[in-house]
Formats: sequence, C-alpha cells, structure tokens
Amino acid sequence: MPEQKPMTGLFLADGSLALREDLPHPERPGEVLVQVRKVGVCSTDLALARGYMGFQGVPGHEFVGVASNGPFAGQRVVGEINAACGQCDWCARDLGRHCPERTVLGILNRSGAFAERLSLPAENLHPVPPEIDDDTAVFLEPLAAAFEITEQVSLSSHRRALVAGDGRLGLLCAKVLALHGLDVVVAGHHPERAELLPKNATIEKDLLDGKPRGRPFDLAVEATGKPEVLAQLVPWVQPRGTIVLKTTAERPAPLDLAPVVVDEITLVGSRCGQFPPAIEAIRSGQVSVAGMVAARYPLSESPAAFQRASQGGLLKVLVDVST
Ligand SMILES: [Zn+2]
Ligand SMILES: [Zn+2]
Repeated sequence: MPEQKPMTGLFLADGSLALREDLPHPERPGEVLVQVRKVGVCSTDLALARGYMGFQGVPGHEFVGVASNGPFAGQRVVGEINAACGQCDWCARDLGRHCPERTVLGILNRSGAFAERLSLPAENLHPVPPEIDDDTAVFLEPLAAAFEITEQVSLSSHRRALVAGDGRLGLLCAKVLALHGLDVVVAGHHPERAELLPKNATIEKDLLDGKPRGRPFDLAVEATGKPEVLAQLVPWVQPRGTIVLKTTAERPAPLDLAPVVVDEITLVGSRCGQFPPAIEAIRSGQVSVAGMVAARYPLSESPAAFQRASQGGLLKVLVDVST
C-alpha cells in the first residue's frame, strides 16, 4: 500500500517559498502515486514564485520518479503535466492539453514535483527506457515542449530558423529544429553554449540589437520569455514566414501588427508537447542534453535552488529529491 503520511516539499504561498514537512499526501483517487527522484527548476517555476497565475502549493513539473502503483508500478516514469477530464470534446480529439477542466502539475490546482510524492493519472505517465538516466529524464518535459513545434509547423517547408534565447528552452528548440535539417541561428548571450548544439546551429551574441541585412529567416522561435522580443523578431522573418511563441510572457507588450499583416507572417502559440517523440530522440541519441545541468541541490535546500536559478546565467538547476 502506498504511504499516506504527510510529506516534505517546497511550498509556495503569497510569493514566498518554504520547505515544509507537513504537506498533505498528494494521491488522488484512481491515479498513480509517484515517488519523485529528481526535479528541474523551470522558468515557469520562477515566474510562479514571483506571483504569476497566483499559484499556491507545491510547484514543479519537470520530474522523474518511480511509480508506486498502476501499470508502471516499480518503474521509473516521467509525466505529461496536463491532467484532463477525459470526457469533453477536446479530450475526445486527443487534445487533453487544452481540456478546459484540466489541472496542471505544479502550475494549476495540482500539487507539483518539488516534494517527495506527486499524483498523476496513469495515462499521463511514460516509462523511462533504461538508456536514459535520471538527470536526462528531467529534460523530457521541456524537450517535449520543443517537439511541439514539429506538430504545429511543417518544418520541411522551412530552411533557416532564428531562435531568440540561449537558455534551456531555446537550446532545446534549436536542437529539435537542427535535427529536422534546418540551419539554426540562436540569438543569445552565451556563444560558448554553441558547443552544446549540433553543427547546423550557431549562437550569435546581441544579434537582435542590430538591424537585419535582408530577411534571412523563414522561421523564428521566441524562447526568451521577454514580451518585447516578439516585435524584434518580425523584421528578421521573410514574408509568409512563421514566428512560434514558445514562452508564456508574464506581462503584455505592444506589437505593431501592420508588418505581420503586410508580410502575411503566421504567429503560432506553442506550449506543452507529447512525450513519445522526445523520449525516442533521447533514447536513440538524436538529441543530447549532456552538459546542461549546471547545479544541483537536495530537496532540503530547494529554496536555495530557486534563488540560484533566478539569478540567471545557469542552464539547468536540478533538485535531488530521493537522496
Ligand atoms: Zn517547464
Ligand atoms: Zn476534457
């Protein structure tokens, strides 16, 4: 029987994070209880800690753990973070990620992964193949989000991509686009991170501060989380090109829509993705996340992990829960 006792975890309330040992057992009826092993700090977690979405509870949605019950009992699992109702039109169309009744792990009405245990429906879980270690498995959720672009945009009809942002998500998006044969330029601040990218992807410092010569890209991806960057991307994109918005910006920003109309640029909002392509890309070695973990903390020091991650300049900060 899964344990029912209170658990230790990181709790967010009224803009402050604290480690608590009295958190309620998270298991929901009919769902799978997961013993968390590792969890990554994501920009969304940092935004929640600043008050985004008014979230109160345990944050955390990029995790690997071991299922205590259900079809994968005893196995390492990762999980899709949107828990859908399974009964509405969206769910019937296999788009539970847009179910209006959904809860979202560590983001919306569902206790998250910066804790000893979490609960998710069995259909959200995917077993982790033995070739993928725990550190790498934590990247499957953001990598699935990067793969979402391939579900929304026909990449075979694009050739040159501009990715704004050389943080975690920007690099993952660059890897996915490069894997699909596009030449990729990342506009960022850390040229040395180019060594983490495949040969057909580079990083250019301060690129967006300059004026574009011609309009070199037919695809652009916003992965900075800064709302003003969308307007900066427009002049770099060819007529009939596509701009994918990969981050949820916390504040609105003005955008002159006339060039978008005149040049018939397609804007695509893009959020969470399906796990199987991400798992297969990592398992087969087509995508690597080696070198992206920059710091690690035990769960007992997870407030410090958030503080370190929010200072910026680091790729992934991991929290080890099971040690
Ligand atoms: Zn995330
Ligand atoms: Zn639904």
